[in-house]
Amino acid sequence: MAKPKIATAWMAGCAGCHMSFLDIDERILDVVKLVDITTSPITDFKHFEDVDIGIVEGTVNTTKDEEVLRDLRAHCKILMAWGDCACFGGIVASRNPFDKTDCLRRGYIETESTVHGKIPSSDEIPRLLDKAKPANHVVKVDCFVPGCPPNADSIYYALVELLNGRIPVLPANMMRFD
Ligand code: SF4
Repeated sequence: MAKPKIATAWMAGCAGCHMSFLDIDERILDVVKLVDITTSPITDFKHFEDVDIGIVEGTVNTTKDEEVLRDLRAHCKILMAWGDCACFGGIVASRNPFDKTDCLRRGYIETESTVHGKIPSSDEIPRLLDKAKPANHVVKVDCFVPGCPPNADSIYYALVELLNGRIPVLPANMMRFD
């Protein structure tokens, strides 16, 4: 029987959630026995194919993030959000009380280390959205693994639950980072 397929995507985030996944250490050998990891920052394939489980890290911060998230959602049966950025907006959403243009000006022009700064502008550069959003403000998300990052045990638990046909509900002791 074919193994279930997984794809993962990385929006506006620090890659810490994917690093936490890799922190499951030798259990990753059990995971790759059970699933095929297709498109992912880990494999570096670029285009989604149809998969059983989609996993997303990071905040929806730019037009590209929104495009990637919709693309992943369209190709997966179950979508799981990893980490506070994807679940709630996380640190990236701390820009939301401010005007988008002020954020760009602060980031590209006004920081103390910047000399002759300029806000980049090109059709090839994704546009910053007016507000940073968690994944479920854009598409349906089926399960959430919060934490910044979620610890490796929580990620492993959630994955195994899904592979056993259950939508994971994290026990209380996995809702904090130890
Ligand atoms: S939730 Fe934390 S670890 Fe994960 S991408 Fe966001 S900032 Fe990084």
